[in-house]
Amino acid sequence: MFSQFALHERLLKAVAELKFVEPTPVQAAAIPLALQGRDLRVTAQTGSGKTAAFVLPLLNRLVDLKGGRVEIRSLILLPTRELAQQTLKQVQLFSQFTYIKAGLITGGEDFKEQAAMLRKVPDVLIGTPGRLLEHLNAGNLDLSHVQVLILDEADRMLDMGFAEDMERLCKECEQREQTLLFSATTGGAALRDIIGKVLKDPEHLMLNSVSQLAEGTRQQVITADHDQHKEAIVQWLLANETFDKAIIFTNTRALADRIYGHLVAKDVKAFVLHGEKDQKDRKQAIERFKQGSSKVLVATDVAARGLDIDGLDLVINFDMPRSGDEYVHRVGRTGRAGGEGLAISLITHNDWNLMSSIERYLKQQFERRVIKEVKGTYNGPKKVKASGKAAGSKKKKVEKKAGADKKGAAKKKPAAKPRNKAPLASADGLAPLKKRKPAAE
Ligand code: AMP
Repeated sequence: MFSQFALHERLLKAVAELKFVEPTPVQAAAIPLALQGRDLRVTAQTGSGKTAAFVLPLLNRLVDLKGGRVEIRSLILLPTRELAQQTLKQVQLFSQFTYIKAGLITGGEDFKEQAAMLRKVPDVLIGTPGRLLEHLNAGNLDLSHVQVLILDEADRMLDMGFAEDMERLCKECEQREQTLLFSATTGGAALRDIIGKVLKDPEHLMLNSVSQLAEGTRQQVITADHDQHKEAIVQWLLANETFDKAIIFTNTRALADRIYGHLVAKDVKAFVLHGEKDQKDRKQAIERFKQGSSKVLVATDVAARGLDIDGLDLVINFDMPRSGDEYVHRVGRTGRAGGEGLAISLITHNDWNLMSSIERYLKQQFERRVIKEVKGTYNGPKKVKASGKAAGSKKKKVEKKAGADKKGAAKKKPAAKPRNKAPLASADGLAPLKKRKPAAE
């Protein structure tokens, strides 16, 4: 029950109005600590209820502030416009019975109108780093009285190259009393670096959904021969599965466009979302998809980050995501709030080892599914190692090379892969840096 939290009655009224009854795990863990004023580092994905987990304690701090507005009291920094808009909506809903005002600063919107909004001084400012810095540099923005700073999807901001901008904006909030950092993944060195710089003695709440995934969502893999075959499988699935809304994830924009083109050519109503689309197209695609005028969205990870879509019950990984955390992030979008979801990954010979690394990371085996109408010739590797990866050609090469150099051969033999060799997806679920391809956007 939300009434267990020491939240102001006006906020509890809004919570009741929104028909939130039980706090989600991230809310149960984060709200009491945030209300005490602690700095927090929270690992939780979109769909976990993380927004309310930081918005409610933030509003609780601001709710009794009296007097004219002269200072911006809080900043929510996040990676994308869509996430910013969704967050603004939640802030407005939760603050509907208070006098708290929120403002939005993101790229793709009118700069002068934003400057005018800033002159009215919102209590809660929500924005993306690039445009916020432009306003700072133009002298439109004073963050020196910010009391609470929230970094949402910090890992994604870093992936998008915002590290320096984030640091600069954090420094501008020099008087802050509390910082809350949320990320969908446990991140890597860049995230640790920023955590060290901006958080004071933080409590780390790990609410990663690896264990939650199994509950509402069935996870399947279907083997495929090549991309064209994958497209045939997608078309079969869209025609034969029962679903309300589906997302097809690709690792690149080019592939997203190609699949979209082929779907449209087959008279499937679909939208495509990636970083090259302009703001108007993106907004329109998201709105239409949400309203249900199309049931299918083709998207890259970055473009789909932060999207909160009700009724999403089918996720198709056309490409396997590059890390276990990214998989959780994609697949965690289905089966929300107790609903049922289905996640299907399409696996060619090239995807197999990554898939098996992700299975090991999640400590579960995906259901193997065969659709006889679109069955190909590839059914997985002939032989698998104890790790689940394909046993194969690589080893032969090593032996050949080693044979040419006897000393080397003697050395190499004991190094025959240990059973629990580190998977491609490392313990944090991220592929080692050198193996990561550039971000899709
Ligand atoms: P988020 O992870 O913040 O993007 O939230 C995902 C969705 O869950 C949003 O649509 C919220 O409105 C909804 N939500 C968050 N917390 C609760 C709750 N305690 N009960 C019901 N719905 C919730």
